[in-house]
Amino acid sequence: MSDLTIKNLKKVFEGLEIIKGIDLDIRDHEFVVFVGPSGCGKSTLLRLIAGLEEVTSGHIYLDDKEITDIAPAKRDLAMVFQTYALYPHMTVRKNMSFALDLAGIDKKEVEAKVNEAARILELEPLLERKPKALSGGQRQRVAIGRAIVRHPKIFLFDEPLSNLDAALRVQMRLELARLHQELNATMIYVTHDQVEAMTLADKVVVLNAGRVEQVGSPLTLYHHPVNRFVAGFIGTPK
Ligand code: ADP
Ligand code: MG
Repeated sequence: MSDLTIKNLKKVFEGLEIIKGIDLDIRDHEFVVFVGPSGCGKSTLLRLIAGLEEVTSGHIYLDDKEITDIAPAKRDLAMVFQTYALYPHMTVRKNMSFALDLAGIDKKEVEAKVNEAARILELEPLLERKPKALSGGQRQRVAIGRAIVRHPKIFLFDEPLSNLDAALRVQMRLELARLHQELNATMIYVTHDQVEAMTLADKVVVLNAGRVEQVGSPLTLYHHPVNRFVAGFIGTPK
């Protein structure tokens, strides 16, 4: 049974079809990576799943419930942005608790959730700092912490490591793999970086010009690409 099901999803921007009829099944606890060249529609597809863009046509189901037209906050999803989108005037603690406070959740419960996220992400010593006093990697962890406190069923990441230097990217990749295990959540991760896709994914979705070219495990894509685009993009075996 699929956790998230997408059926014939289309998105038109200014008369141009950007997402051209995508079907996809994502299972519970999978680490799924959307990979493809710049401009192929990865972010748009993720934003449609998150509810940050309206679909032009098609359907999205979460646990057999249709969520196509449900408000983003009411979907059991949390998105982590490439730019982190932290509030500069708030402490790390407040950045992580803000959405829960707004939702009127009990203070003690919020505190427990923030402390748990801080433990998982090793942010405990930094809770009273403001974002400007953090490194890029620490900011990225706060952005992830903000998603974790919501205990979503699915985490959506849009190129979360692209603003980090190469060494930190490798470290954060390992951390994301650990988080996936520890949180036992479903993760959908967008990148244009083939290496990132191949190292992180249980399942890779190769996108090209608004269509799915192939879905498969990293090994399947590497050894059995269905066409030249996938072979060229992923890299054919020597
Ligand atoms: P990717 O994340 O794979 O680089 P995007 O999903 O950001 O690609 O963009 C896919 C295409 O859709 C691009 O041609 C982009 O210009 C276009 N696009 C994305 N968002 C909008 C928008 N809000 N209005 C008009 N065109 C858009
Ligand atoms: Mg993008």
